[in-house]
Amino acid sequence: MVTVHVREAVKTLRPYRPGQTQEDLRRFGVESCVKLGSNENPLGPAPAVLEAIRRSAESVRLYPEPGVPRLRRALADHYRRPVEEILTGAGIDDLLDLTVRCLLDPGDNLVLAFPGFVRYEVAACLAGGTPKRIPGSPASPYAHDLDAMLAAVDSRTRMIVLVNPNNPTGSMFPRHDFERFLDRVPSGILTVLDEAYFEFVDDPEYADGLTYLGGEKPLLVFRTFSKIHSLAGLRVGFGVGPADLIAFLDRARLPFNVSVPAQEAAIAALASPDHVRRSRVLAHEETDFLSVALRERGWQVEPTWTNFVFARCPVPGSPLAEGLMRRGFILRPLTAFGLDDQWFRISHGTREQNQALLAALDAVTRALSP
Ligand code: PMP
Repeated sequence: MVTVHVREAVKTLRPYRPGQTQEDLRRFGVESCVKLGSNENPLGPAPAVLEAIRRSAESVRLYPEPGVPRLRRALADHYRRPVEEILTGAGIDDLLDLTVRCLLDPGDNLVLAFPGFVRYEVAACLAGGTPKRIPGSPASPYAHDLDAMLAAVDSRTRMIVLVNPNNPTGSMFPRHDFERFLDRVPSGILTVLDEAYFEFVDDPEYADGLTYLGGEKPLLVFRTFSKIHSLAGLRVGFGVGPADLIAFLDRARLPFNVSVPAQEAAIAALASPDHVRRSRVLAHEETDFLSVALRERGWQVEPTWTNFVFARCPVPGSPLAEGLMRRGFILRPLTAFGLDDQWFRISHGTREQNQALLAALDAVTRALSP
Protein backbone atom coordinates (compact mmCIF):
# COMPACT_ATOMS: atom_id res chain seq x y z
CA MET A 1 0.00 0.00 0.00
CA VAL A 2 1.45 3.34 -1.04
CA THR A 3 0.76 5.83 1.73
CA VAL A 4 2.43 8.84 0.15
CA HIS A 5 0.64 11.21 -2.17
CA VAL A 6 0.83 10.17 -5.81
CA ARG A 7 -0.52 12.52 -8.48
CA GLU A 8 -3.86 11.53 -9.97
CA ALA A 9 -2.35 11.72 -13.47
CA VAL A 10 0.07 8.97 -12.48
CA LYS A 11 -2.55 6.79 -10.78
CA THR A 12 -4.77 6.86 -13.84
CA LEU A 13 -1.95 6.54 -16.36
CA ARG A 14 -2.13 3.70 -18.87
CA PRO A 15 1.57 2.94 -19.19
CA TYR A 16 3.28 2.44 -22.51
CA ARG A 17 3.87 -1.26 -23.14
CA PRO A 18 7.12 -1.78 -25.04
CA GLY A 19 7.60 -4.70 -27.42
CA GLN A 20 8.44 -8.13 -26.06
CA THR A 21 11.98 -9.25 -25.46
CA GLN A 22 14.04 -12.40 -25.37
CA GLU A 23 13.42 -12.48 -21.63
CA ASP A 24 9.62 -12.63 -22.16
CA LEU A 25 10.04 -15.76 -24.26
CA ARG A 26 11.69 -17.70 -21.46
CA ARG A 27 8.24 -18.50 -20.09
CA PHE A 28 7.73 -20.62 -23.21
CA GLY A 29 11.11 -22.26 -22.67
CA VAL A 30 12.47 -20.45 -25.73
CA GLU A 31 16.17 -19.64 -25.31
CA SER A 32 16.97 -17.68 -28.46
CA CYS A 33 14.71 -15.59 -30.61
CA VAL A 34 14.40 -13.43 -33.70
CA LYS A 35 13.19 -10.05 -32.50
CA LEU A 36 11.04 -8.35 -35.13
CA GLY A 37 8.86 -6.30 -32.81
CA SER A 38 10.78 -3.10 -32.04
CA ASN A 39 12.06 -1.79 -35.39
CA GLU A 40 15.68 -2.50 -34.59
CA ASN A 41 18.32 -2.76 -37.32
CA PRO A 42 19.33 -6.42 -37.87
CA LEU A 43 22.78 -5.35 -39.11
CA GLY A 44 23.80 -3.79 -35.80
CA PRO A 45 25.93 -0.63 -35.61
CA ALA A 46 28.77 0.15 -38.04
CA PRO A 47 32.16 -1.32 -37.00
CA ALA A 48 33.56 2.20 -36.44
CA VAL A 49 30.68 2.89 -34.05
CA LEU A 50 31.38 -0.23 -32.01
CA GLU A 51 35.02 0.79 -31.89
CA ALA A 52 34.08 4.27 -30.63
CA ILE A 53 31.98 2.70 -27.86
CA ARG A 54 34.88 0.48 -26.81
CA ARG A 55 37.27 3.43 -26.75
CA SER A 56 34.82 5.48 -24.70
CA ALA A 57 34.87 2.87 -21.92
CA GLU A 58 38.03 4.57 -20.63
CA SER A 59 36.07 7.77 -19.95
CA VAL A 60 32.99 6.52 -18.15
CA ARG A 61 34.50 7.38 -14.76
CA LEU A 62 33.75 11.03 -15.59
CA TYR A 63 30.39 12.72 -16.09
CA PRO A 64 29.62 13.60 -19.69
CA GLU A 65 30.23 17.19 -20.80
CA PRO A 66 26.93 18.77 -19.76
CA GLY A 67 26.40 20.85 -22.89
CA VAL A 68 27.18 17.87 -25.17
CA PRO A 69 29.42 20.18 -27.25
CA ARG A 70 31.12 17.66 -29.55
CA LEU A 71 27.98 15.78 -30.57
CA ARG A 72 25.96 18.98 -31.01
CA ARG A 73 28.77 20.43 -33.13
CA ALA A 74 28.93 17.22 -35.20
CA LEU A 75 25.15 17.34 -35.73
CA ALA A 76 25.26 21.04 -36.62
CA ASP A 77 27.97 20.38 -39.23
CA HIS A 78 26.29 17.27 -40.58
CA TYR A 79 22.88 18.85 -41.01
CA ARG A 80 24.12 22.42 -41.67
CA ARG A 81 22.11 24.04 -38.90
CA PRO A 82 23.32 26.45 -36.20
CA VAL A 83 24.41 24.61 -33.07
CA GLU A 84 21.96 26.73 -30.98
CA GLU A 85 19.09 24.96 -32.77
CA ILE A 86 20.18 21.51 -31.62
CA LEU A 87 19.25 19.61 -28.49
CA THR A 88 20.30 16.06 -27.69
CA GLY A 89 18.63 13.56 -25.42
CA ALA A 90 18.32 9.93 -24.39
CA GLY A 91 16.41 9.07 -27.54
CA ILE A 92 13.35 10.80 -28.94
CA ASP A 93 11.47 9.35 -25.96
CA ASP A 94 13.39 11.66 -23.65
CA LEU A 95 12.98 14.69 -25.91
CA LEU A 96 9.28 14.23 -26.52
CA ASP A 97 8.62 13.86 -22.82
CA LEU A 98 10.68 16.98 -22.11
CA THR A 99 8.87 18.99 -24.77
CA VAL A 100 5.43 17.96 -23.57
CA ARG A 101 6.35 18.78 -19.96
CA CYS A 102 7.63 22.19 -21.00
CA LEU A 103 4.61 23.12 -23.12
CA LEU A 104 1.52 21.57 -21.55
CA ASP A 105 -0.13 22.85 -18.40
CA PRO A 106 -2.80 20.66 -16.79
CA GLY A 107 -5.91 20.87 -18.98
CA ASP A 108 -3.99 21.58 -22.20
CA ASN A 109 -3.98 19.17 -25.10
CA LEU A 110 -1.89 17.95 -27.96
CA VAL A 111 -3.22 16.70 -31.28
CA LEU A 112 -1.85 13.52 -32.84
CA ALA A 113 -2.78 10.95 -35.44
CA PHE A 114 -4.47 7.64 -34.77
CA PRO A 115 -3.13 4.99 -35.18
CA GLY A 116 0.02 6.68 -33.98
CA PHE A 117 2.96 6.62 -31.64
CA VAL A 118 1.42 6.23 -28.19
CA ARG A 119 4.37 7.59 -26.21
CA TYR A 120 3.10 11.12 -26.98
CA GLU A 121 -0.23 10.23 -25.40
CA VAL A 122 1.45 8.91 -22.27
CA ALA A 123 3.53 12.09 -21.98
CA ALA A 124 0.44 14.29 -22.38
CA CYS A 125 -1.49 12.38 -19.70
CA LEU A 126 1.45 12.50 -17.32
CA ALA A 127 1.59 16.27 -17.72
CA GLY A 128 -2.09 16.43 -16.73
CA GLY A 129 -3.11 17.17 -20.31
CA THR A 130 -5.11 15.31 -22.92
CA PRO A 131 -4.11 13.68 -26.18
CA LYS A 132 -6.57 14.30 -29.02
CA ARG A 133 -6.43 11.30 -31.34
CA ILE A 134 -7.37 12.10 -34.92
CA PRO A 135 -8.09 9.08 -37.12
CA GLY A 136 -7.11 8.98 -40.78
CA SER A 137 -9.75 9.83 -43.39
CA PRO A 138 -12.11 7.08 -44.65
CA ALA A 139 -10.16 7.07 -47.93
CA SER A 140 -6.75 6.71 -46.18
CA PRO A 141 -7.45 5.36 -42.70
CA TYR A 142 -3.79 4.68 -41.87
CA ALA A 143 -2.34 8.02 -42.97
CA HIS A 144 -2.35 11.36 -41.15
CA ASP A 145 -5.43 13.45 -41.94
CA LEU A 146 -3.70 16.82 -41.68
CA ASP A 147 -6.87 18.83 -42.33
CA ALA A 148 -8.74 17.00 -39.56
CA MET A 149 -5.80 17.51 -37.22
CA LEU A 150 -5.91 21.26 -37.86
CA ALA A 151 -9.68 21.28 -37.39
CA ALA A 152 -9.22 19.67 -33.95
CA VAL A 153 -7.16 22.59 -32.65
CA ASP A 154 -8.84 24.52 -29.84
CA SER A 155 -7.81 27.22 -27.37
CA ARG A 156 -6.02 24.66 -25.15
CA THR A 157 -3.99 23.03 -27.94
CA ARG A 158 -0.27 23.56 -27.45
CA MET A 159 1.19 21.12 -29.90
CA ILE A 160 0.42 19.10 -33.03
CA VAL A 161 2.49 15.95 -33.38
CA LEU A 162 3.17 14.64 -36.88
CA VAL A 163 5.08 11.40 -37.31
CA ASN A 164 6.50 11.03 -40.81
CA PRO A 165 6.80 8.23 -41.75
CA ASN A 166 4.33 7.09 -39.15
CA ASN A 167 4.67 4.38 -36.53
CA PRO A 168 2.88 1.90 -36.49
CA THR A 169 1.30 2.37 -39.95
CA GLY A 170 4.45 3.04 -42.03
CA SER A 171 2.59 5.77 -43.95
CA MET A 172 4.16 8.93 -45.34
CA PHE A 173 2.57 12.30 -46.12
CA PRO A 174 4.02 14.18 -49.10
CA ARG A 175 5.70 17.58 -48.99
CA HIS A 176 2.82 19.32 -50.72
CA ASP A 177 0.44 18.31 -47.89
CA PHE A 178 2.96 19.33 -45.26
CA GLU A 179 3.44 22.75 -46.86
CA ARG A 180 -0.32 23.28 -46.94
CA PHE A 181 -0.43 22.29 -43.28
CA LEU A 182 2.34 24.75 -42.35
CA ASP A 183 0.53 27.56 -44.18
CA ARG A 184 -2.57 26.94 -42.09
CA VAL A 185 -1.31 25.96 -38.63
CA PRO A 186 -1.78 28.77 -36.07
CA SER A 187 1.57 30.38 -35.24
CA GLY A 188 1.13 29.95 -31.48
CA ILE A 189 1.10 26.17 -31.75
CA LEU A 190 4.25 24.07 -31.94
CA THR A 191 4.43 21.49 -34.71
CA VAL A 192 6.50 18.51 -33.60
CA LEU A 193 7.67 16.53 -36.59
CA ASP A 194 8.93 13.12 -35.50
CA GLU A 195 11.25 11.72 -38.15
CA ALA A 196 12.48 8.60 -36.35
CA TYR A 197 12.43 6.73 -39.69
CA PHE A 198 13.75 9.60 -41.84
CA GLU A 199 16.81 7.77 -43.17
CA PHE A 200 14.75 4.89 -44.56
CA VAL A 201 12.80 7.14 -46.92
CA ASP A 202 13.92 7.38 -50.50
CA ASP A 203 11.01 9.19 -52.11
CA PRO A 204 11.16 12.55 -53.92
CA GLU A 205 7.73 13.42 -52.50
CA TYR A 206 9.01 13.26 -48.92
CA ALA A 207 9.25 16.49 -46.91
CA ASP A 208 12.63 16.59 -45.13
CA GLY A 209 11.62 18.47 -41.97
CA LEU A 210 14.95 20.25 -41.52
CA THR A 211 14.43 22.17 -44.76
CA TYR A 212 11.35 23.84 -43.24
CA LEU A 213 13.09 25.25 -40.16
CA GLY A 214 13.42 28.99 -39.86
CA GLY A 215 9.99 29.68 -41.34
CA GLU A 216 7.20 31.63 -39.65
CA LYS A 217 5.65 28.62 -37.94
CA PRO A 218 7.44 27.06 -34.96
CA LEU A 219 8.66 23.59 -35.91
CA LEU A 220 10.62 21.06 -33.87
CA VAL A 221 12.06 18.06 -35.71
CA PHE A 222 13.04 14.88 -33.86
CA ARG A 223 15.48 12.26 -35.14
CA THR A 224 17.08 9.26 -33.51
CA PHE A 225 20.15 7.05 -33.57
CA SER A 226 18.02 4.05 -32.50
CA LYS A 227 16.77 2.99 -35.91
CA ILE A 228 19.01 3.12 -38.96
CA HIS A 229 22.16 3.68 -36.87
CA SER A 230 21.23 0.68 -34.73
CA LEU A 231 21.94 2.25 -31.35
CA ALA A 232 18.57 1.60 -29.67
CA GLY A 233 20.27 0.22 -26.56
CA LEU A 234 22.45 3.30 -26.02
CA ARG A 235 19.60 5.85 -26.05
CA VAL A 236 20.52 8.88 -28.12
CA GLY A 237 18.43 11.18 -30.29
CA PHE A 238 18.18 14.85 -31.13
CA GLY A 239 15.80 17.68 -31.82
CA VAL A 240 16.28 20.64 -34.15
CA GLY A 241 14.12 23.72 -33.74
CA PRO A 242 14.01 27.47 -33.10
CA ALA A 243 16.96 28.53 -30.91
CA ASP A 244 14.75 30.25 -28.32
CA LEU A 245 12.59 27.15 -27.84
CA ILE A 246 15.68 24.92 -27.72
CA ALA A 247 17.13 27.16 -24.98
CA PHE A 248 13.99 26.66 -22.85
CA LEU A 249 14.01 22.90 -23.36
CA ASP A 250 17.73 22.82 -22.57
CA ARG A 251 17.02 24.50 -19.24
CA ALA A 252 14.55 21.81 -18.21
CA ARG A 253 16.35 18.68 -19.41
CA LEU A 254 18.35 16.47 -17.08
CA PRO A 255 21.94 17.69 -17.08
CA PHE A 256 23.57 14.40 -18.14
CA ASN A 257 20.89 12.87 -20.35
CA VAL A 258 23.31 11.52 -22.98
CA SER A 259 26.04 9.20 -21.70
CA VAL A 260 29.66 9.36 -22.81
CA PRO A 261 29.49 6.15 -24.92
CA ALA A 262 26.24 7.33 -26.51
CA GLN A 263 27.81 10.66 -27.52
CA GLU A 264 30.89 8.98 -28.98
CA ALA A 265 28.83 6.36 -30.80
CA ALA A 266 26.54 8.97 -32.32
CA ILE A 267 29.50 11.03 -33.59
CA ALA A 268 30.98 7.91 -35.19
CA ALA A 269 27.59 6.96 -36.67
CA LEU A 270 27.33 10.31 -38.44
CA ALA A 271 30.66 9.51 -40.08
CA SER A 272 29.47 6.08 -41.33
CA PRO A 273 27.29 6.88 -44.38
CA ASP A 274 27.99 3.54 -46.06
CA HIS A 275 26.40 1.69 -43.18
CA VAL A 276 23.34 3.92 -43.39
CA ARG A 277 23.07 3.21 -47.11
CA ARG A 278 23.42 -0.55 -46.62
CA SER A 279 20.78 -0.51 -43.90
CA ARG A 280 18.38 1.49 -46.08
CA VAL A 281 18.84 -0.86 -49.05
CA LEU A 282 18.27 -3.87 -46.81
CA ALA A 283 15.13 -2.30 -45.34
CA HIS A 284 13.70 -1.69 -48.82
CA GLU A 285 14.51 -5.18 -50.06
CA GLU A 286 13.27 -6.95 -46.99
CA THR A 287 10.09 -4.97 -46.36
CA ASP A 288 9.24 -5.60 -50.05
CA PHE A 289 10.00 -9.30 -49.63
CA LEU A 290 7.85 -9.58 -46.51
CA SER A 291 5.01 -7.53 -48.01
CA VAL A 292 4.77 -9.76 -51.09
CA ALA A 293 5.03 -12.97 -49.04
CA LEU A 294 2.38 -11.86 -46.54
CA ARG A 295 -0.02 -10.76 -49.28
CA GLU A 296 0.38 -14.20 -50.89
CA ARG A 297 -0.72 -15.62 -47.54
CA GLY A 298 -3.88 -13.52 -47.46
CA TRP A 299 -2.65 -10.72 -45.22
CA GLN A 300 -3.63 -7.10 -45.78
CA VAL A 301 -0.34 -5.22 -46.08
CA GLU A 302 -0.15 -1.42 -46.20
CA PRO A 303 2.60 0.38 -48.14
CA THR A 304 5.58 1.30 -45.96
CA TRP A 305 8.33 3.94 -45.99
CA THR A 306 10.07 2.46 -42.95
CA ASN A 307 11.94 -0.63 -41.74
CA PHE A 308 8.73 -2.46 -40.81
CA VAL A 309 5.47 -3.59 -42.36
CA PHE A 310 2.03 -2.83 -40.99
CA ALA A 311 -0.18 -5.78 -41.77
CA ARG A 312 -3.40 -7.54 -40.77
CA CYS A 313 -3.54 -11.32 -40.62
CA PRO A 314 -6.55 -13.23 -41.93
CA VAL A 315 -6.89 -15.32 -38.73
CA PRO A 316 -7.28 -14.50 -35.01
CA GLY A 317 -4.08 -12.70 -34.04
CA SER A 318 -3.46 -13.67 -30.42
CA PRO A 319 -3.01 -17.44 -30.97
CA LEU A 320 -0.88 -16.65 -34.01
CA ALA A 321 1.40 -14.35 -31.99
CA GLU A 322 1.71 -16.95 -29.27
CA GLY A 323 2.46 -19.75 -31.72
CA LEU A 324 5.21 -17.61 -33.25
CA MET A 325 6.65 -16.81 -29.84
CA ARG A 326 6.82 -20.49 -29.01
CA ARG A 327 8.89 -20.86 -32.17
CA GLY A 328 11.12 -17.95 -31.16
CA PHE A 329 9.70 -15.07 -33.23
CA ILE A 330 8.62 -11.76 -31.72
CA LEU A 331 6.33 -9.47 -33.75
CA ARG A 332 4.47 -6.45 -32.44
CA PRO A 333 0.74 -7.02 -31.93
CA LEU A 334 -0.94 -3.61 -32.09
CA THR A 335 -3.63 -3.90 -29.45
CA ALA A 336 -1.60 -1.56 -27.24
CA PHE A 337 -1.83 0.95 -30.12
CA GLY A 338 -5.63 0.69 -30.05
CA LEU A 339 -6.08 -1.70 -32.99
CA ASP A 340 -7.72 -5.12 -33.08
CA ASP A 341 -5.65 -8.23 -32.43
CA GLN A 342 -5.20 -9.05 -36.11
CA TRP A 343 -2.97 -6.05 -36.79
CA PHE A 344 0.79 -6.51 -36.48
CA ARG A 345 3.86 -4.41 -36.96
CA ILE A 346 6.68 -6.59 -38.27
CA SER A 347 10.20 -5.21 -38.42
CA HIS A 348 12.26 -6.75 -41.20
CA GLY A 349 15.15 -9.04 -40.35
CA THR A 350 17.85 -10.42 -42.63
CA ARG A 351 16.61 -12.51 -45.58
CA GLU A 352 17.36 -15.70 -43.62
CA GLN A 353 15.40 -14.44 -40.61
CA ASN A 354 12.47 -13.34 -42.77
CA GLN A 355 12.37 -16.71 -44.53
CA ALA A 356 12.46 -18.48 -41.18
CA LEU A 357 9.62 -16.24 -39.96
CA LEU A 358 7.48 -17.16 -42.99
CA ALA A 359 8.15 -20.87 -42.46
CA ALA A 360 7.14 -20.52 -38.80
CA LEU A 361 4.07 -18.54 -39.81
CA ASP A 362 3.00 -21.30 -42.21
CA ALA A 363 3.53 -23.96 -39.55
CA VAL A 364 1.56 -22.00 -36.93
CA THR A 365 -1.26 -21.23 -39.39
CA ARG A 366 -1.51 -24.94 -40.32
CA ALA A 367 -1.57 -25.94 -36.65
CA LEU A 368 -4.32 -23.40 -35.93
CA SER A 369 -6.62 -24.23 -38.84
CA PRO A 370 -9.53 -26.46 -37.97
N1 PMP B 1 9.26 8.15 -32.34
C1 PMP B 1 8.85 7.14 -33.12
C2 PMP B 1 7.90 7.42 -34.22
C3 PMP B 1 9.32 5.85 -32.88
O1 PMP B 1 8.90 4.84 -33.63
C4 PMP B 1 10.23 5.62 -31.82
C5 PMP B 1 10.77 4.26 -31.52
N2 PMP B 1 9.85 3.28 -31.31
C6 PMP B 1 10.60 6.70 -31.04
C7 PMP B 1 10.12 7.95 -31.33
C8 PMP B 1 11.51 6.55 -29.88
O2 PMP B 1 12.80 6.51 -30.36
P1 PMP B 1 14.05 6.58 -29.39
O3 PMP B 1 14.63 5.21 -29.37
O4 PMP B 1 14.94 7.58 -30.05
O5 PMP B 1 13.59 7.03 -28.05
